[in-house]
Amino acid sequence: MTAIAERIDRADCAKRITILGSTGSIGCSTLDIVSRAPDRFEVDALVGNSNVARLAEQAKAMRARLVVSADPTNYRALKEALAGSGIAVAAGPEAVVEAAQRPVDMIMASIVGAAGLAPTIAAVQQGTTIGLANKECLVSGGSLFTQAALRSGARILPVDSEHSAVFQVLNRDHADQVSRIILTASGGPFRTFSPAELEAATPEQALKHPNWSMGRKITIDSASLMNKGLELIEAFHLFDVAIDQLDVLVHPQSIVHSLVEYNDGSTLAQLGMPDMRTPIAYALAWPQRISAPVQQLRLEKIGQLTFEEVDEQRFPAIRVSLDALARGGSATAVLNAANEIAVAEFLSKRLSFPGITRLVQATIDRAEQDGMLAGLNSLDDVWSADAYGRRVAQELAARFGR
Ligand code: NAD
Ligand code: MG
Repeated sequence: MTAIAERIDRADCAKRITILGSTGSIGCSTLDIVSRAPDRFEVDALVGNSNVARLAEQAKAMRARLVVSADPTNYRALKEALAGSGIAVAAGPEAVVEAAQRPVDMIMASIVGAAGLAPTIAAVQQGTTIGLANKECLVSGGSLFTQAALRSGARILPVDSEHSAVFQVLNRDHADQVSRIILTASGGPFRTFSPAELEAATPEQALKHPNWSMGRKITIDSASLMNKGLELIEAFHLFDVAIDQLDVLVHPQSIVHSLVEYNDGSTLAQLGMPDMRTPIAYALAWPQRISAPVQQLRLEKIGQLTFEEVDEQRFPAIRVSLDALARGGSATAVLNAANEIAVAEFLSKRLSFPGITRLVQATIDRAEQDGMLAGLNSLDDVWSADAYGRRVAQELAARFGR
């Protein structure tokens, strides 16, 4: 191949990507993969929130075209940090949405929480391919999110490790022969805790996940197993299965990332070391595969893979999530909003660890009494369910204090 032909070929293949939440755990892992394959990827926009120094450093290293902070008060500091670089700077929630609407080959949606919904759905409405890490935006937006993708043709590539696993082994040609989708859960740091130990559990203990290194909010969700509840809701929307076809299996080693069971007795699973760079690389390169700087799985070194049922008495968050999913409409948006408040209250030591799920349940019960569990007909319905869930959870939080 001549040099020019090679250049053209490379230019043809380079995927232009925007990262929403580039300064977080998923965002940094994404940039790690992208920076190792400069022929394949180029960065259009990077979006973050409060960590201006990291955002500016990433933008310079990746030669991004645009950098946005969601917090308008960061505009000046970001502008100063990038003075003379030629990189455009913007700030504020509208600028985040505008960044997501720019024409690119792929958006990595890795903002944490429902804050990611507005920009992610704006990108979905444009038909842009989404690498979806931000599960909360799918839990809140529900079928409005998936319907928007169907309308625009936007492809949603799951980044959550369990959903990437299912995506890798689910044969869509035989979808009618799938009997169950089984998400694995590590069980988190409190898997063996007694009810009394759970009552006394601290944020410091909860933030020490045995297998995965992640942002703070998802680490707390993993300890309460609310993360698995959110992931069941995510799987329901992504894979179009019935609620009773969704299951969870506790697997403390986090090597089997999920399983798909077929009617003929076959169960297919995807295995790998617990490193998010594998599912991130899979989504970035799909439908191809690229190499990722991940330790290869050596099962002889792992020795044993074990599995157990979830103890719903000690970890009621999965049941609470499935009930909300069955109720439909705005229930999962309220659940997500209440959980975001509950996690923040727990991290501030104003709420006990089991109080997280109790507060979420109490908020959903109040929403039902107030007639707030209606259908979702528009994004405005999602925003009002989200605002309601946050307000009521904050009000009720005092009752569940430590
Ligand atoms: P994180 O806290 O490390 O990073 C969050 C990112 O979102 C940061 O870049 C932050 O600046 C940005 N952000 C926060 N609030 C924002 C706002 N209002 N507007 C714009 N940006 C904002 O979180 P994380 O662990 O990287 O998780 C990101 C998402 O991916 C979450 O939804 C999480 O559930 C999901 N996820 C994470 C992992 C993991 O291993 N970390 C695995 C699976 C799924
Ligand atoms: Mg996961």
